[in-house]
Amino acid sequence: MNYQDTLAFATELDAQDQLGGFRNEFLIPKHNGKYAIYLCGNSLGLQPKTAKLYLQDQLNSWETLAVEGWFQGDDPWLAYHKKLIGPLSNILGAKPAEVTVMNSLTVNLHLLMVSFYKPTGKRYKILMEAGAFPSDQYAVESQVRFHGFDPADAIIEVKPREGESTLHTADIIKLIDDNADEIALVMFSGINYYTGQFFDLETIAATAHKAGAYAGFDLAHAAGNVPLQLHDWGADFASWCSYKYMNSGPGGISGVFVNERHFTDTTLNRFAGWWGYRHDQRFLMAQGFQPEVGAEGWNVSTAPIMLMALHKASLDIFEKAGGVPALRAKSELLTGYLEYMIKQVNTNFGDDVYKIITPTDPAARGCQLSVVCKRNAKAIFNYLADNGVIGDWREPDVIRLSAVPLYNTFTDVYESAQQLANALKAIN
Ligand SMILES: *Cc1c(COP(=O)(O)O)cnc(C)c1O
Repeated sequence: MNYQDTLAFATELDAQDQLGGFRNEFLIPKHNGKYAIYLCGNSLGLQPKTAKLYLQDQLNSWETLAVEGWFQGDDPWLAYHKKLIGPLSNILGAKPAEVTVMNSLTVNLHLLMVSFYKPTGKRYKILMEAGAFPSDQYAVESQVRFHGFDPADAIIEVKPREGESTLHTADIIKLIDDNADEIALVMFSGINYYTGQFFDLETIAATAHKAGAYAGFDLAHAAGNVPLQLHDWGADFASWCSYKYMNSGPGGISGVFVNERHFTDTTLNRFAGWWGYRHDQRFLMAQGFQPEVGAEGWNVSTAPIMLMALHKASLDIFEKAGGVPALRAKSELLTGYLEYMIKQVNTNFGDDVYKIITPTDPAARGCQLSVVCKRNAKAIFNYLADNGVIGDWREPDVIRLSAVPLYNTFTDVYESAQQLANALKAIN
């Protein structure tokens, strides 16, 4: 695409955008009476207009049916989660039985490590990317300590090369191969939260397996953003959150993927609860845990129906839009335009103040561009916020901007670039 640095060009792309109507399905926050330019879907996706209705339906069931709501009404709560599984397995590239919804993301990472981090003899290490999201670092640290190891020894991190911000797949492969006898688990994010790099998960899973390790992925920034094929890529497990690109509300319900090859593996540990018990006998309340076959066997607690209702409101929109493949085509154009416009701002200013550290290859990124501001970074970020451009800030000098295909426009991108330019003029 030959992009142009004009409002007319942005307006024309919006006019041609087949997904443009979906913006109207969301509540866009305002700033000084005008719609904000919301480029923060990487942190908290916007509220679907239907969210209130989906929630209200379940409040009504609670009001009118009370405990019978588990078994009666249009959507009995006992089976409510089933309605989320179809759309979610499409988003993740999984078989329906490989997916369930439960808990929050970090909790799920712990539960999955209970199953898939099984240190034995000299194979006790976890390999992950350096600079992983802090919660993942803390989860992994505490897991290795729980098994009696020292994180400094038991965690291997893949680091960027000198002077670079993102990772080379070849370096990931090499570090796994070099430590093949000692790695029990390779745990990577799908997309790094800081740089926006989308990793080659298929290659990482294959390399981990060749080494004799499990491969698990944190898809917080990947789910609902980039195409995923967890089953075909052979991932052992994955988890994600629903409040970023999946627009299901702050602290929304998380989910997990467990590859079907593990369904009947009785050597895997689990921290069990009654919601993972085989469904046909759950209410016999018998002694001795017998898991439901499938990812649902990892469930622990009673389904949080209100969170599921919010999740369903959003997932139904994904289905209506044609799923991630349809969204991805627009996303690549939109992010490409944001990249182009940021470079135009630098060119017009005569200095590369805004340095994009996210990979330039569209296959190696999703919606997010991470922009290092080479000077006055915090003041520039504050200027953007004061002028209605909502991105987010990561220490020491990074502004993350994400144009999301469901609700952002090419005009949003154009206008955000005008403000990036204005900020340079206003702040010296
Ligand atoms: C957002 C995010 C989290 C947040 O985890 P919660 O348990 O939902 O607080 C964890 N890991 C990554 C990689 C994230 O991007």
